Amino acid sequence: MARVVLEVRNVTKRFGGLVAVNDMSFDVTQHEVLGIIGPNGSGKSTMINMISGTFPPSAGVIRLNGQDVAGKPAHRIAQMGVARTFQLVRLLPELTVIENVVAGAAFGHRRRWKGEAERYAQTLLDRVGLGGVMNVPVSSLTYINTKRVELARALACEPEVLLLDEWLAGLNPTELQTGIDLIRSLREDGRTVILVEHVMDAIRSLCDRCVVMSSGCKIAEGTPADVLSDAEVIRAYLGA
Ligand code: ADP
Ligand code: MG
Repeated sequence: MARVVLEVRNVTKRFGGLVAVNDMSFDVTQHEVLGIIGPNGSGKSTMINMISGTFPPSAGVIRLNGQDVAGKPAHRIAQMGVARTFQLVRLLPELTVIENVVAGAAFGHRRRWKGEAERYAQTLLDRVGLGGVMNVPVSSLTYINTKRVELARALACEPEVLLLDEWLAGLNPTELQTGIDLIRSLREDGRTVILVEHVMDAIRSLCDRCVVMSSGCKIAEGTPADVLSDAEVIRAYLGA
């Protein structure tokens, strides 16, 4: 049996009277790409925000390698091995590509001295296809390249679990194929990934398993083929 890296148990998030995430439970096993899918507003980003420590759950437990991380601050959870990208790219636009990645690596759970951090950042930037633009300011990059920087920055934390929140959103069809190929290469590296995604082709081709959310609740869980043919899932997507 594959080892469970992340356990989410009965996690709920309330914003005032709104229940954004309602009693969610699921596991993520090592080397698995788990998709979290569901209509807009169903609670996917809120789930990612709780796992990464952006804000605490109102109730429930989130265990990383058996240790409860629910409510711990984001930098602490990053050090423990969870890194993420944001649905809306968050970078330091005036700094160069490599400076952004090194700044991210400083929050990683393995301390590196500066020269070592830079070399590691270079390797990652080559890996995501930015080897040629390491020293330009992020503000001069195309959109897909800013997404690549975010990915490299998350990888610089040497995460045990990588959280990608709609990393493919906003890409044109050509970029989309490049993006899917890049995520597939992470999968082939054996990374453990939670992929929040709307792009159905990406879900079908990248995810081992999917959890489907609707109005904060889990409505289905299984292989992409199974959940995408599930009548309740189709209803949730069509809003019927
Ligand atoms: P998704 O990522 O699936 O589109 P979200 O997790 O962003 O959904 O949002 C789920 C619900 O929680 C929505 O109704 C949204 O408006 C609400 N919500 C998300 N974040 C906050 C917040 N920080 N404060 C108040 N409400 C929020
Ligand atoms: Mg979202």
